[in-house]
Amino acid sequence: MSPQPEIRENVELEALNTLHVPARARFYVEVRSAGELAQSLGWAATEGLNVLILGGGSNLVFAGDFMGLVVRLAIRGRRWEHIDGHNATLVLGAGENWHEAVLYAARAGYRGIENLALIPGTAGAAPVQNIGAYGVELCDCLESVTALDRTTGELVVLENEQCRFAYRDSVFKQTPDRYVITEIRLGLSRSRPLMLGYRDLQEYLGDTQESSLDPLDVAEAVMAIRRRKLPDPDKVPNAGSFFKNPVVDGATFESLKARFPDIVAYPQEQGVKLAAAWLIDQCGWKGFRNERVGVHNRQALVLINHSCGSGSDILTLAERIRGSVTARFGVSLEMEPGIVGGPG
Ligand SMILES: Cc1cc2nc3c(=O)[nH]c(=O)nc-3n(C[C@H](O)[C@H](O)[C@H](O)COP(=O)(O)OP(=O)(O)OC[C@H]3O[C@@H](n4cnc5c(N)ncnc54)[C@H](O)[C@@H]3O)c2cc1C
Repeated sequence: MSPQPEIRENVELEALNTLHVPARARFYVEVRSAGELAQSLGWAATEGLNVLILGGGSNLVFAGDFMGLVVRLAIRGRRWEHIDGHNATLVLGAGENWHEAVLYAARAGYRGIENLALIPGTAGAAPVQNIGAYGVELCDCLESVTALDRTTGELVVLENEQCRFAYRDSVFKQTPDRYVITEIRLGLSRSRPLMLGYRDLQEYLGDTQESSLDPLDVAEAVMAIRRRKLPDPDKVPNAGSFFKNPVVDGATFESLKARFPDIVAYPQEQGVKLAAAWLIDQCGWKGFRNERVGVHNRQALVLINHSCGSGSDILTLAERIRGSVTARFGVSLEMEPGIVGGPG
């Protein structure tokens, strides 16, 4: 049995979320193993407390204090398994930094996650919203996830198909109080093709031949593009893209296209995905700021905490943006980060 890790009271969370909004946890614990996780969840159940699982805090908005137990996943460790010819499985503890893991794999010559460089947060949170960028999603190479099933208290392994991955979605998001991910397994390869089809990447790489590139080159290209476009949350507090790209049916898209010929959209297997950034930009929000919060001046999807803004300042701005996009385009924007804490 693992020893009970130290549970602290009344802990400030401002430094533990990338929007840097102030909020307190009534109780807070950092867990370094699946055993410590089980102990902490057991303690919360005995005390009748709600639990928030926290990774790097880059996809959350604290609407206020969290009156239960915040469990920060600090389970570390990376190892290779099943090295077989060109293929290998990279196993990551849930508390591993995602971007460092991307560089670690790329430096070893393994392909699969290099397009996901510079996404903040932890490996354990990556499956929750099936992180994606530059033409690649986590589900493209995730083999399986080990998670503690809170309904049984047992560790279970969920294979890729059982994770019910979709665009920014998974079983972990659909049943938020059920699984806590302790470890993920990624199927990587030294020989699979590099994914260079995304327009920004193509423009950046120009005439460079794929055969002259390795996965580290691609990771570095993605990092350079991202640094040009997105604010660094360590310098400018933000939570990345604040809204998902909405998917509409073909008829809705045709009617929007007739009214707004420049609309930016991407055909999907089912329906058409609209660029939320374009919709927001058209409503005049890019670069907007009040005394505390605002919208990034190069990327309309990114809301920024300029100066001592609170979670509710951010959420009020998000609601105003959503309202104006609905009024102009009749399209409803869905927030990407989860809202936690606050009244109710
Ligand atoms: C500047 C910036 C750029 C970003 N770019 C992208 C991008 O390109 N693509 C993209 O997809 N996302 C992007 N994001 C969003 C974010 O980085 C990812 O969603 C990331 O995976 C969140 O990781 P985290 O550890 O910070 O999770 P947190 O914010 O701590 O948690 C997010 C959610 O996951 C849950 N959770 C966390 N850990 C676990 C676990 N071990 N088990 C079960 N549930 C857990 C939490 O309870 C919460 O519901 C960006 C964010 C920022 C700030």
